[in-house]
Amino acid sequence: MRTPPVTADTIVEVQNLEKRFGTFRAVAGVSFAVRRGEIFGFLGPNGAGKSTTIRMLCGLLAPTAGTGTVAGYDIRRDAEKIKTRIGYMSQKFSLYDELTVEENIDFYSGIYCLPREKKAVRKAWVLAMAGLEQHRHARTAELSGGWKQRLALGCAILHEPPILFLDEPTSGVDPNSRRQFWDLIYELSSQGVTIFVTTHYMEESEYCDRLGIIYRGELIALGTPRSLKTEHMPDAVLELECDRANDAMAVIERLPEIKSSALFGNGLHLVTPDHAAAIAATRTALTGAGFVVQRLERITPTLEDVFVALIEARDRADGTQKEVAQ
Ligand code: ADP
Ligand code: MG
Repeated sequence: MRTPPVTADTIVEVQNLEKRFGTFRAVAGVSFAVRRGEIFGFLGPNGAGKSTTIRMLCGLLAPTAGTGTVAGYDIRRDAEKIKTRIGYMSQKFSLYDELTVEENIDFYSGIYCLPREKKAVRKAWVLAMAGLEQHRHARTAELSGGWKQRLALGCAILHEPPILFLDEPTSGVDPNSRRQFWDLIYELSSQGVTIFVTTHYMEESEYCDRLGIIYRGELIALGTPRSLKTEHMPDAVLELECDRANDAMAVIERLPEIKSSALFGNGLHLVTPDHAAAIAATRTALTGAGFVVQRLERITPTLEDVFVALIEARDRADGTQKEVAQ
């Protein structure tokens, strides 16, 4: 992948970053740059290497190869300096369940060495931001997922870091809390905080300014959500609404004009290199087989379409390489 340009605006920058566990390459040489104030997302399935990358950027894990800087500090040499200048919310929210809300905040104020006068101000800010003023004496274990998540966010930014790393911050919380959480992220971003967030939710990826798609440790695409949909998808996507979508799929998959099909909401998404030919062939085949086609048209691909297409293309390329190697 092309090396990203480094400008004065760059706050995170890595080149060929790699992490091996034994012979296994969990992160297989990724290069990218994040601009100050950006919401940068890392989208990938479980095991893709998202957490491993974030932990290297936060100075928590030494890379096996490659270089990088965060807020101007070298991720190999200045790991300790990086830790004081970033906020990090790990996938498991590192809160102490047995402590009260307030005690957790006090604990993290101590970790970040906040001066005494700052402590009270920041505590009040976190309690208000998380909506936990009435629950300051509650045991953390008793909080709902959404509250825990907002408390964990508050504890991660007590020291007002200019950059915040969030590792799947919304996994396991309800959709309503997820939206509220994103409101907070936008709020922070509007104040100039850079956000690096990992997710496996498509809907969440749409909220990012720029997005890297990571798969098996490799960055397979990088761009704005819009550019990913327009530039990284060589094939057209058709949306089909018809009765008995599941049965219709069996008919459609036999058509040479259709590369792949998948259930999507109440209908189907069909991928094709030639949309006009595919629409004609699909209509004829379905009508002939007794289906009622309610709608069949070309659409702008969703991020999920792009994601699936890129991953399939990568799997095919890997398969071909293996065949060549044999
Ligand atoms: P993600 O966060 O995208 O789900 P991870 O970065 O946690 O993925 O993991 C990437 C791969 O590296 C996975 O296959 C995982 O099992 C492996 N892995 C992560 N940490 C370790 C470790 N400490 N030792 C060995 N393998 C690891
Ligand atoms: Mg992870």
